[in-house]
Amino acid sequence: MRFLTANYVYPVSTAPVKKGVLITEDNGRIVSLLRPGDVGYAATAPNAQHFEGILTPGFVNAHCHLELSYLKGKLAKHTGLSGFVKEMMAVRKWQADEEVLGAIEDAENEMLRNGIIAVGDISNSDFTFAQKAKRNMLYHTFIELFGLNADKAEEVFANGETLLRQLEELLPSAPANITPHATYSLSTKLLKLIAEHNYLRDGVISIHNQETEGENELFRTGTGPVAEQMAKFGLDLSTYKPTGFNSLPSTVVHLPNCNRILLVHNTVSTKEDVQWATDYGKLMYWALCPNANLYIENKLPDVPMLRQMGAKIVVGTDSYASNDSLSILDEMKTIVANFPGIPTAELIQWATLNGAEALGFKQQLGTLDKGKTPGINHITVDERGEIFGGSLVTKLA
Ligand SMILES: [Zn+2]
Repeated sequence: MRFLTANYVYPVSTAPVKKGVLITEDNGRIVSLLRPGDVGYAATAPNAQHFEGILTPGFVNAHCHLELSYLKGKLAKHTGLSGFVKEMMAVRKWQADEEVLGAIEDAENEMLRNGIIAVGDISNSDFTFAQKAKRNMLYHTFIELFGLNADKAEEVFANGETLLRQLEELLPSAPANITPHATYSLSTKLLKLIAEHNYLRDGVISIHNQETEGENELFRTGTGPVAEQMAKFGLDLSTYKPTGFNSLPSTVVHLPNCNRILLVHNTVSTKEDVQWATDYGKLMYWALCPNANLYIENKLPDVPMLRQMGAKIVVGTDSYASNDSLSILDEMKTIVANFPGIPTAELIQWATLNGAEALGFKQQLGTLDKGKTPGINHITVDERGEIFGGSLVTKLA
């Protein structure tokens, strides 16, 4: 048994507890959280290990591409999404070599050190599967597909199924499903195949959403930078029918509204988009990856609007192709620096419970409730109580 205490303990399921004593089994399973005045508090508090700062559940990284970890420091900053994609195409490897596999292992270790215990991870390949099979942390793997040629939709989908089976053979109980890449990169036919797949298996759908205004323009008018980029890739847009609506409603309308849908980035999402999504489905999650947004576009989503609309926010690091660290704490610091005044308890909920809920890990993770093994993080806070630094106290058993 371990007895841990701090200036404040953030169970997330309830309000922070000043000088709470957290009792865990040796494997990290939560036994109870004692409040001053509770039976047994006076006897345990003086002997508990004290942490200066706060204790929180382990972090959930809602969006990562672990397989791209070898791209750390290789792509230029602030080149915009099209510049980023162009550079990415030039350096991307399609075979795993020692560099790729070593970078995956290092990145996972870094996430663990940074207090992350579960990840929503995008896979276009099997590069990460062997690392995931070591079960050092929990993953929900999204086998990500793209393809605008409707004639090839079945073939692309079948390749995704093969990759998914490969993961399931290696890790039989691994949470995983096929997912669309982005609003603009799939034919409606491929999108519908993925929608049906997830409807049948109650999958979680992750989709890169509204990273640039050009994405909306493509759907509204069939023109703009994304349309030009597509033409450069040799796609025939002469028969393309713009929907007249933003990319979010134009795409999400093809996805089952009884599934959890994880919208990633949302850099240019408007109040109207959020309203539409909220009316469409009750299980929408809005992933913020602020450091990646600053890396690529040097622009952040309208976080105050998302909060005002009651959007369920989760936090992701995206990949080393567009980030200098894989740390949810670093993402939270960027959010605090750019949008001061968000209560620490709310931020921590985004980074823990909301992510656990989105990825289907709510039974085990996300709060310091009895019976869970959520990992416990020690975070230092500044004089205003805002997060400052941190490290992992206990990881997932
Ligand atoms: Zn991404």
